[in-house]
Amino acid sequence: MNILDGQKGLIVGVANERSIAYGIGKAVAAEGADLILTYQNERLQGKVESIAEELGAAALLPCDLTDETQLAELVEEVGATWGHLDFIVHAVAFAKREELSGRFLDTSREGFAMAMDISVYSLVALTKACEPLLQKSEQNPSILTLSYYGGEKVIPNYNVMGVAKAGLESAVRYLARDLGPDGIRVNAISSGPIKTLSAAGIRGMRTQLTAVEKQTPLRRNVTIDDVGRAAVFALSDLGSGMTGEVLHVDAGYHAIGAFVD
Ligand code: NAD
Repeated sequence: MNILDGQKGLIVGVANERSIAYGIGKAVAAEGADLILTYQNERLQGKVESIAEELGAAALLPCDLTDETQLAELVEEVGATWGHLDFIVHAVAFAKREELSGRFLDTSREGFAMAMDISVYSLVALTKACEPLLQKSEQNPSILTLSYYGGEKVIPNYNVMGVAKAGLESAVRYLARDLGPDGIRVNAISSGPIKTLSAAGIRGMRTQLTAVEKQTPLRRNVTIDDVGRAAVFALSDLGSGMTGEVLHVDAGYHAIGAFVD
């Protein structure tokens, strides 16, 4: 008997085997969850196809979360396959490379809007579209998104993405209030830095990883498997009393106020 036996989950945000969403996919599949995965575009399709196969996914569907038509088609397909959803993983963010270095003050209006749309509103859009499927779940349905400490404190170069993560964490709380009466939980994991495709776009990422290794209480960086294990907790009955929460999986980085000996 596994913790997520028979639960039906939609995972949005797998790009390759470095993706946090892949770490979560592996962990929830190992606990018995049935999955539907999505890919953002044809460029990523091949990679995600082999991951979907590895995880025994029931379907692999295209989904660019800025495209309302594609989102509606995704929900229709998921409904036709399972008739309901028990959980959703939203592991999606984007900001233009030029916004992820230098001064936050220099963020363009267009770059700001794009980062907010893809990194924050996409959670609202996905949640709204899937609400009827989650309402049909009989197993403590829940939604999980991914945040970063740069939404709480200033991390050099993270810039507009930090402001987006602050918005995302706030959206988690508002969604938790809206959906709580239906028993649907909404949470975020604030992960420590991990070398992924998205993270490669942030200037100074390598320095950040080295600093974390030296300074966190656990003296190491976290892995996608660390995040995956925490996701099992958040998405399963183990987390049944938790909603509107931002859970730090960052080797303790957020707990330290000053990195001096
Ligand atoms: P990743 O590049 O593997 O995943 C990002 C995903 O977002 C990709 O699959 C990409 O296809 C998807 N995406 C981007 N725009 C999209 C759109 N319009 N529609 C649908 N999908 C879209 O990188 P990751 O680091 O695994 O990122 C996953 C989440 O984790 C992001 O929210 C990121 O901000 C967050 N996070 C990452 C770190 C880190 O250090 N890597 C730390 C904390 C939080």
